[in-house]
Amino acid sequence: MKIAIYPGSFDPITCGHLNIIRRASNIFDKLIVCVMINAAKNPMFSLSERVDMIRKVTADLPNVEVDSSDSLLAEYAKEKGSCVIIKGLRAGSDFENEFQMAMINRKINPNLDTMFLTAEHEYMYMSSSTVKELAAYNVDLSGFLPEEIIPDFQKRISTNHQGGK
Ligand code: ADP
Repeated sequence: MKIAIYPGSFDPITCGHLNIIRRASNIFDKLIVCVMINAAKNPMFSLSERVDMIRKVTADLPNVEVDSSDSLLAEYAKEKGSCVIIKGLRAGSDFENEFQMAMINRKINPNLDTMFLTAEHEYMYMSSSTVKELAAYNVDLSGFLPEEIIPDFQKRISTNHQGGK
């Protein structure tokens, strides 16, 4: 069984992420979407909230599993019996960093390959941080976030704002 892992912060999951998940789940027998803890980022949503949002929007994809981990990605892949990491590539700016990460992961785990899927043109410009910025100005988030999570997301944004007043 060919298992791939799609790691990220997913804070929150966007339509761009979901597009990569759908495409990768068509290629592999099983896709594990793993919310990774990134010490350099200060997330808006807790780990379990992010996992729940991803589960909600991938409920129609039977070969997609959602998990979270604070392990090293190369080790996590080994534990799960996977030899492929999926990454989405937006602009050239993603490339430098992702290329370096792919090399490092392969050095740690020589059986591990990284496969890049190019972003769909309509999602090229989309990132979780842009979506959070737009939400703060009450922009309509349809087309940015999967419909199923927009109400919960907006509720959280307005609670954060009230808390900040
Ligand atoms: P972000 O940069 O939005 O915080 P993550 O760390 O959650 O993203 O990203 C996880 C993976 O998803 C990375 O491989 C990233 O390049 C990819 N990705 C993020 N946004 C998009 C998008 N709009 N289209 C395609 N891939 C994307």
